[in-house]
Amino acid sequence: MEIYKIGSKGEAVKQIQKALAGAGLAVVCDGIFGKITMEAVIAFQKENGLTPVDGIVGPATLAKLMPKGTSTAFSIKKTKRRITDIIVHCTATPEGQELTMKQLEEQHRKRGFNGIGYHYVVLLDGTIAPGRDIDTIGAHCSGYNAHSIGVSYVGGLENKPGVPYKKLKAKDTRTAAQKEALFNLLSLLKKTYPNAVIKGHRDYSPDKNGDGLIEPWEWIKSCPSFSVEEYKGI
Ligand SMILES: [Zn+2]
Repeated sequence: MEIYKIGSKGEAVKQIQKALAGAGLAVVCDGIFGKITMEAVIAFQKENGLTPVDGIVGPATLAKLMPKGTSTAFSIKKTKRRITDIIVHCTATPEGQELTMKQLEEQHRKRGFNGIGYHYVVLLDGTIAPGRDIDTIGAHCSGYNAHSIGVSYVGGLENKPGVPYKKLKAKDTRTAAQKEALFNLLSLLKKTYPNAVIKGHRDYSPDKNGDGLIEPWEWIKSCPSFSVEEYKGI
C-alpha cells in the first residue's frame, strides 16, 4: 500500500490535494506534498477522528479521503454559477444493466441536449463519472437548470425480461457501491455549496393541492425512484 507524505509527488498527490480541497481545506493542487498539504492532512485527520494524526496519508486516511468511487478522475470543482439546488436523478436504466457515459451521451444527444445533461453520474460499481462541465448549465430538470447541479445514478427501473421498456416500473436499484458513492458525492457537494438543497427530480413536480408537500400522486415522474430524504442529514 502506497503512503504519501512530505516529499511525495505526482498525480496521486494531486488527487489527494483535490480531495482535501473538496473537504474544504486550503491546499494548492500542484501534485507536490509540502508543508501546507501536510497541515491540511492533519486537519482532515483530526476532523475525521483518524489516528495517528501525523499528516501522512496511509491506507486509513486515503480510504476516508477518497472513498471508493471518488478516486482518480473525480474531484469537486467549484463553479462560478450560483447554486441553489443539487438535484438527484436516475438514468431510467433497468436494474443491473450498466450504462456507459458514451451510451448516455448518445441518449441525451438524441433528446436534443448538447451532450450529457448531468454533471455527475454514478455507475453501478460506484464510480463517479464526470458529465458536463460544472460551469455549464445542465439539462436535467426543466426550469431549474440555471442554478442547479445534476447528479444521476445508473438505474431506477425494474428489470423484467420480456416486458417492454416503457412498461417497466420505477425501482430503487442502487447498488451498495452506488449508495456509498452518492452519499460521498452529495456530501462533497454540500460542503462546497452549503446553502444548496438536495432534492430528487420528482420533488419538482407541481404542488397540485398547494399543501406545500409534493405527494406521490403529484409526481410527474418517479425519478430518481427513491426518496432523497435519505440524505437529509448531510
Ligand atoms: Zn430525472
